[in-house]
Amino acid sequence: MSRKLLTLLLTVSIIASLASCKVEPAMTEALTKASSAESTTVSQTISTSESIEETTATTTADVKKITTDYKEFKVNEQGHIMVVMYHGIIDNPPYHRTKEQFTKDLQYMYDHGYRLITLADYLSGHIDVEAGMTPIHLTFDDGLDTTFALKETADGFDVDENTAIGILEDFCAKHPDFGRGASLYFHDQKTNFGEVGTDKERFDWLLEHGYELGNHTATHDNLGKLSKENVIKEVGRVEKYVNSLYPDMHLTAITYPFGARPDSSYRTAALKGEYEGVKYNYQIGLREGPSGPFVPVTHNKFQALNAPRVRGSEGANGDLWWYFDYYDKNPSLKYISDGNPDTLVVPEKRSATINDYAKENFEVIIY
Ligand SMILES: [Zn+2]
Repeated sequence: MSRKLLTLLLTVSIIASLASCKVEPAMTEALTKASSAESTTVSQTISTSESIEETTATTTADVKKITTDYKEFKVNEQGHIMVVMYHGIIDNPPYHRTKEQFTKDLQYMYDHGYRLITLADYLSGHIDVEAGMTPIHLTFDDGLDTTFALKETADGFDVDENTAIGILEDFCAKHPDFGRGASLYFHDQKTNFGEVGTDKERFDWLLEHGYELGNHTATHDNLGKLSKENVIKEVGRVEKYVNSLYPDMHLTAITYPFGARPDSSYRTAALKGEYEGVKYNYQIGLREGPSGPFVPVTHNKFQALNAPRVRGSEGANGDLWWYFDYYDKNPSLKYISDGNPDTLVVPEKRSATINDYAKENFEVIIY
């Protein structure tokens, strides 16, 4: 079994076993309607669907094959998925949000059909959100104590409710169908995410609650200005640090400080290699700002080591609220799910964008 697969399985198993506020994927509206109806009504319901597999379904087993009415939901699983770049909860725009602003962002996402997904799902394309919903992933750079910190309670450690993760946990608890999905990127120093507990205890809490960890380089240097040897050192030191805490864990994601990628002549080599005996292999490198269209992994324009992020702020061209407005005005560009993570449902006019990875890993349905 490849290390990539092992890493993915580890990540998935941690998330699957520990995520606490994710609910079972809801059945699609069509399925809910159909399964609660008499069999004669089922036939009527499915006969209006674009996507039915059998038009004569009369048993429960057959009803389960019914999927979403793609046209009604405007399903587009080659549409854009935003990855949002946040930092801390500080009143210092545009890199930081206040508690009120961050809560406002989350509320807008929830109210407008965005649902959180993990980075592992973003990277595999296994998107498990309800029909009609648009996935979104949140990232937090710099290992700040306003992004995440622990507090001591009578029962042990708990999240500081004034940090971004504390705010997100509270929002998730109140909106259990919002999903889960945030990744946090840090350095190799031992004071990531505040000073209550140890780094290991803080990372443990995050992993146990379904969060993902990633590399933000050892010293936050500009990778675009470093030699290959120094890029390897910046990347490898964090991997070695993680390896010292979790011998079986490998990070799969890196966020480039300042959005600056290593020189193109050694970019790939620098992100897959070995530092002081510890091997690393990054599957995704995330930039800063809208460095390209937010296409999904199944799209022929997707570049894993050049993945764009949108800055989590408001008031500037190309920031989060600019894109909220943009996708409100251009909903056909958004990823809209059919509710089934195993299929890739694509409007005919976008079918030319489907890449080989998609064809090899999903049941592709063009309508
Ligand atoms: Zn940074």
